[in-house]
Amino acid sequence: MDIGVLTVVAASLVAMSVVAWYRVIARHDETEGRGFRVGVAGMLSVLAFIAGYFEVSHHLRQQLATEALGVLSDVDGISADCERLTEGLLNLSQYQGYVYFDGTNVAHLRRQVCHNLWDYAHGGQANPTEDQILAVHVVGHEAMHINGIRTESVAECTAVQLNHLIAEELGATPEEARELQRRYFEDLYPRQRSNYISSECREGGDLDIFPDRTEFP
Ligand SMILES: [Zn+2]
Repeated sequence: MDIGVLTVVAASLVAMSVVAWYRVIARHDETEGRGFRVGVAGMLSVLAFIAGYFEVSHHLRQQLATEALGVLSDVDGISADCERLTEGLLNLSQYQGYVYFDGTNVAHLRRQVCHNLWDYAHGGQANPTEDQILAVHVVGHEAMHINGIRTESVAECTAVQLNHLIAEELGATPEEARELQRRYFEDLYPRQRSNYISSECREGGDLDIFPDRTEFP
């Protein structure tokens, strides 16, 4: 169960709105203060709606990320944990995502990764931004860790060769998905940390998972 500060705020505002509207109805015959009671109830309802909107959006993004993760993993109970706003403010790490190797099958994703993944799936497929390409790839990279690959350069190079399948799941045509894969490999892969990249991540290299094919990735 994913409960954050916003969950509590949204639930509290809903409860307060209900109480406020109950007062409006119960004390309907009292003219004094009636306008004020209606005003308070209306304001609480608006705030509850806004908080609820953001809370539901968080869960929808997380659900989409979980679906994307499942494209490259058959591990049971795999799920994405999208960072909440409050967690994001406290997280100063450079990592886009991480997995704890403790038997749990959860990929922890930075807030912007989940946002960019959502934007990619909702209209970004034909002309994705670099951040959207990175988000699609990061999900693939974390899926490799959940699949049991611990070495960063191996997880990274395997994801490089499979990330187009996530793009397709998120609505890209096969051509758009391959273009995303090509752009990641040519533009973003070389800029990763040194322990993420390998000279064997090439056609015919040790990390080529499709040795029979002549094109890479
Ligand atoms: Zn990694």
